[in-house]
Formats: sequence, structure tokens, C-alpha cells
Amino acid sequence: MKKYICVLTAVIMFVLAVVPAAAAGGLELAVLDVGDGKAPSVVELAEEETTITTKSLPDAVFGEEYDFTIECTDKDAEIYEYYNPGRPNDFEKTGFKFGSSGRIYGMPKNVGKFTFTVCAAGEYGEDYATFTITIKEAHKHTLVKTEAVGSTCKDHGHNEYYTCSSCGKVFKDAEGKAETTAVAEELPLTADHVWGDWTTVKEATEEAEGEQKRVCTVCGREETRAIARLAHTHSFGDWTVTKQATCTEDGEMTRSCSCGAKEAASVPAVGHKWDKGVITTKPTKDTAGEKTYTCTACGETKTETVEPSDEYGEEHPAMALSILPAILITAGSVILVCVLTAVIAVLVIKKKK
Ligand SMILES: [Zn+2]
Ligand SMILES: [Zn+2]
Ligand SMILES: [Zn+2]
Ligand SMILES: [Zn+2]
Repeated sequence: MKKYICVLTAVIMFVLAVVPAAAAGGLELAVLDVGDGKAPSVVELAEEETTITTKSLPDAVFGEEYDFTIECTDKDAEIYEYYNPGRPNDFEKTGFKFGSSGRIYGMPKNVGKFTFTVCAAGEYGEDYATFTITIKEAHKHTLVKTEAVGSTCKDHGHNEYYTCSSCGKVFKDAEGKAETTAVAEELPLTADHVWGDWTTVKEATEEAEGEQKRVCTVCGREETRAIARLAHTHSFGDWTVTKQATCTEDGEMTRSCSCGAKEAASVPAVGHKWDKGVITTKPTKDTAGEKTYTCTACGETKTETVEPSDEYGEEHPAMALSILPAILITAGSVILVCVLTAVIAVLVIKKKK
């Protein structure tokens, strides 16, 4: 034990007076020079007693190596088992060895409580202490099995393991040899989700992708995926004639989709609209004539040969002959009507008179 004492010169003198007694009791006195050339004001009083400071020994377990060192104030003191028939002396029954510096080590030989005496012999004296060491029965684990459980995507499973119901230690094996922990035996979550059906969250359109979702029925995790944009189907408007068809040439018409796509189609030529035609060259009995037709739409003309005939050559007499009876009948009728009208008019006038 070291003590620091601030003292005055008078006190120093008092201490000096007790030096002989102190030396006998293991006290060491030193006067420190503080370095200012004046009389020292601090005195260190170092006390070196040989005192065993260890109060008790830890228990030993049968079947397990033991190793413990008894402490003493004097590091240089020799510590040994003190054999004296008048004192407890059971050290030998422990089976341990005693090292020179107070180390007790080795395998236990017996189970029980063993008391013995230790002596520490130093430069300034000796100290004795009596210790009792308890060598306990080796612990027998009472192992309870925990069955293996597989992981899901939500809950951690674990390997099978055994827990001692008495000490709480956990082992991989039923013999309690391979110690482990419940946490170490835990299994990682599995990535195998139990997916429900895909449901459409957003329908795909021609303009945008849609979206589908599915949910894990175990852990609730969601997964989404895109639905491809719908293929564009053209929606054409009405046909617009861009080039009118003529009698002989096809026209053209187009229609377009909102996407800009265009479609064209031809409008078939309408064909000439021929009139009844006129005889432009009268046939005779011997020569062919010609008939000319004119298109009422475009003015185009075409001719047709009229087979030789006298039909057209005697046109006027023939026509006169054929028309004459009609003319005569018509004229007769007109005259008859006039006469009848006149007669009736006369009769009416006479009656009025
Ligand atoms: Zn146990
Ligand atoms: Zn899941
Ligand atoms: Zn389109
Ligand atoms: Zn025409």
C-alpha cells in the first residue's frame, strides 16, 4: 500500500523518528526531491506487506480443466501450499497442481469441497490464508429437441437443435457436443413466394402500356409487370375523291387514319354515254353509210357503218307516204270538230232568241 502525505518539516522529523519501527514492519520510506533546490515538501511512504488478496477460489467442474492464480501484494513473494497437520490440508484430494507463484491448475480428481492452507512468503513477511475449492459434478445436459422448420418468404425457419432445460445451452446434436445458438441455426427467408393471379391494374391502350399486379398470399409482397401496348388498328375516315374519274380514265380517292396512315383506291372510269347517233353518211342500195354517235359527257364521237340499204336513200317519199294517212285523219278530225262546234254554236244562239 502506498500513501502520499503532505507534511511540513516537523512532520518529516516525526516520520524519521519512526523509521526503525517502520523498516521492521516492512515500510519503505523515500524522500522525493521536487527539483527546486529547496527542502522537499512531499514524502512518498511505500508500504510493502506480504498480503494474500484473493478471498475465494472459483468452483471447479469435474471433467473440466481448472486454472486459477492466487494474488498477493508482493509480486515476488513465493506462494505455496502450506502443509501443516494442524491446519486444513485437503489440497492433494483435488488432483490439482500448485505452481510456485500461486497458480492452481489441472484436472479435478474428486468431486466435493476441499479446504487447504496457502502461504505467501515475501521479503517483508509471510501471510497465510485458508481456501475451500468446490469441485462440482459435471453438468449433465437435459436436452430437449426442437424440430426443424422450413423458412417461408415471411418467417424464418431453423435447423433442428437441442436445448438444455437446465442450463439453457443449445446444441446441434442430441449428445450435447456441438454447442450452437438458436440464432445461428436460423434459416434465411425463402424467395419462393406464393403468388396469387395476375390482375390488371391498368388496361393497355394503343397509346400506353398497361399494368398487372400479383400479391404473395403469404407475405403480401407485390409484383407488377407491364402489359404491352395494343397494336394500332387503323380507323379510316370517309373516302375523299382526289381525282375525278372520266369516261376513259380512272380517278382516285383516298382516306386517312388519325395516325397519319393513308389509303388510296382508284375510282373506275365511268365509260362514255353515247347518244342515239345520227346518220352522217346515208347508205345507198350499194354503198354503206355511216352513223355517228356522240358522248353526252365528253363529246367524244364514234362512227358505225350502216349496211347498204335504200331505206335511208328514199327517206322523204317513204316518209310522206307513211305520214300522209295520219295527216289526212288529223285534218279531217279538225274540220269535223270545227263544223260540229259551229253547228252547236248556231243552235245555241237560235235557242236564246
Ligand atoms: Zn445443461
Ligand atoms: Zn411472399
Ligand atoms: Zn392508324
Ligand atoms: Zn365520254
